[in-house]
Amino acid sequence: MEKLVIIGTGPAGLTAAVYAARANLAPLVLAGEVPGGQLTQTTEVENYPGFPEGILGFDLMDNMQQQAERFGAKVRNEVVTAVAFTPGGVQRLTLSSGEALEAEAVIIATGARPRKLGIPSETTLWTKGVSSCATCDGAFFRGVPIAVVGGGDSALEEAIFLTRFGSEVFLIHRRDELRGSKIMQERAFKNEKLRIEWNSTIDTILGEDEGHVTGVRLKDTKTGALRDVPCNAVFLAIGHIPNTDVFQGHVEMADGYIVLPDPGRSLTNVAGVFTAGDCADHVYRQAITAAGMGCRAAIDAERYLAERGE
Ligand code: NAP
Repeated sequence: MEKLVIIGTGPAGLTAAVYAARANLAPLVLAGEVPGGQLTQTTEVENYPGFPEGILGFDLMDNMQQQAERFGAKVRNEVVTAVAFTPGGVQRLTLSSGEALEAEAVIIATGARPRKLGIPSETTLWTKGVSSCATCDGAFFRGVPIAVVGGGDSALEEAIFLTRFGSEVFLIHRRDELRGSKIMQERAFKNEKLRIEWNSTIDTILGEDEGHVTGVRLKDTKTGALRDVPCNAVFLAIGHIPNTDVFQGHVEMADGYIVLPDPGRSLTNVAGVFTAGDCADHVYRQAITAAGMGCRAAIDAERYLAERGE
């Protein structure tokens, strides 16, 4: 039986792995659907402390994995397909390879994925002007027009934030009223660099031939009319989907996010099952906050195992 299995290799899972490995727990780390997590899907990361020149997302995650392995973490490219949790008992996992695992403790750090539009040009131009993280990528688009898609608080927050960089920011929303809070709406309406394209969806992101975003073709949801608007970046802010389907019914969740009964700690409602990162955090969703959550999950798991005499 494994002492500790960590599910996920984003900043939360790998930071938990570094701490658990240094505590001599020799954690087994399962890489999941996207080894390295969301940061491997972006380019330069400029806001992770310790890298004054920035670092490529892939390199940051590769470094974290090497750091965890150096202390004895075992990383395997496996996806968990089923679980059976017993409060305070043996935690059972089934892997996509069919293998069954048993563990004393589990840390769920499966992250989240940004909801996407589902159009081909979005895939082609991903990281070439299309992004889902204004905090990460906004500064690359100084002095040029920027589009943001969505009408919730995330879209409003990102659009307002991006007015620091863009020559103008336009928010593309599919209805004629916003979903975001009144205070955020007021801030958006007052911002002179921000304009809203109401009743509009993106038909195509333009620039596939050029290899970078050159504009968007918008479709009016009432008339069906198409119009092109030039821009150099498209930020998606249409929500996130936590990667928690496999845990449904096994740990307490709210809107797909794993619930932390004590928000200051990493314990789920099942003793022996801990969680960290975006699968349990719909508010901050940053690499550094996920890493911090991973650290505390490893410390909580270590204490849990120590109390059981492991
Ligand atoms: P959200 O509230 O679910 O809003 C998602 C937005 O994206 C909606 O306006 C929705 O349109 C639109 N949308 C969804 N699918 C779409 C598609 N396929 N094409 C075009 N548009 C699409 O998500 P969120 O903004 O990420 O917020 C999530 C939660 O976090 C909310 O509770 C929010 O209040 C909270 N939050 C709070 C803050 C803050 O307080 N500062 C900041 C960020 C988030 P419709 O409106 O037509 O459905």
